[in-house]
Amino acid sequence: MTVALAGSLTAFPAGGATNWHELADRVLAGHALTRDEGLAIVRAPDGELLDLLAAAFRVRKAHFGMSVQLYFLMNAKSGLCPEDCGYCSQSKVSQADIPRYNLLQPDKLLEGARLAAERQAKTYCIVISARGPNEREMQAVTEIVPRIKAQYPLKICACLGLLTPEQAQRLADCGVDRVNHNVNTSRGFYEQICSTHTYDDRLRTLQAVRAAGMELCSGGIIGMGEDDADVVSMALALREQGVHSIPLNFLQAIEGTPLADSDRLNPRYCLKVLAMFRLANPDRELRIAGGREVHLRSLQCLGLYPANSIFVGDYLTTKGQPAEDDFRMIEDLGFVITRQEEVVAGVSPPKLESGLAH
Ligand code: SF4
Repeated sequence: MTVALAGSLTAFPAGGATNWHELADRVLAGHALTRDEGLAIVRAPDGELLDLLAAAFRVRKAHFGMSVQLYFLMNAKSGLCPEDCGYCSQSKVSQADIPRYNLLQPDKLLEGARLAAERQAKTYCIVISARGPNEREMQAVTEIVPRIKAQYPLKICACLGLLTPEQAQRLADCGVDRVNHNVNTSRGFYEQICSTHTYDDRLRTLQAVRAAGMELCSGGIIGMGEDDADVVSMALALREQGVHSIPLNFLQAIEGTPLADSDRLNPRYCLKVLAMFRLANPDRELRIAGGREVHLRSLQCLGLYPANSIFVGDYLTTKGQPAEDDFRMIEDLGFVITRQEEVVAGVSPPKLESGLAH
């Protein structure tokens, strides 16, 4: 006997495992994941995890094949941010022991690009800590981007905070391919993590980027005290926003930040969240971002079944594992690092991007 579960999910037999493959079939046929289905995924019993990942992998494989896209982050300006995002070690309310410096000189930004290219990254992400870029920072970024692109086969993603439409247009004009600006969590939970700007401020920046013709990279952070419904809301909101690329961070609670004591994540939950994001955003790039090594731990390789992208190297203020370990993991899985836009014959995934904090 088959019984109905939340939404239109079915279980087989009665009391048995949810039919995640049937859900994957419907997603592959164009079904838009519902809120109830999203909740069922993140609350799936641990015993169904491998079936769920296999179903998510079918969707990932249909759109991205066995490819993995690598991204390389450059923290171009660290600390000194006047905003109060509770998860962020660079905010004015953080006492975290991190490097604090103003915008790096052009030679350092070029050196980062060289490293990114050497590590087979598709995209070089230039990130500054700020509410938004000042004029000096805008000038520095718009001058260095054409130089980087002339020397290296890299896409450029800029993560500069809130942008005006005019600033977004200047970034597009100098050759920035995409902008990262994370929604970070659900609309309903947003004011729990930040009081100096709003969720709608962030959506306005996404709109400015869209209007300037750049690709949108926007994701969030899991593990800040939000509930499962907030996690699902974020996945569905990103679908509504039409973002091309979704970086998912798992909060690495940093001593000295307001969220230093947040610690509800385990590797299985993180994998369910990744599977839910894949099924909610089937053809969007999904990147495992900060917290990968800490929260997925010994299961981190399984994250690449729903996700198709990772950062190689360090995060903004925390260390990543050595690049060689990432390369070995990808090889062991039988996946292939690629910089290609089109990775599956007949399928054109959206153009791709990156990101992390902000
Ligand atoms: S996330 Fe960005 S805007 Fe918020 S405090 Fe950190 S650097 Fe500033």
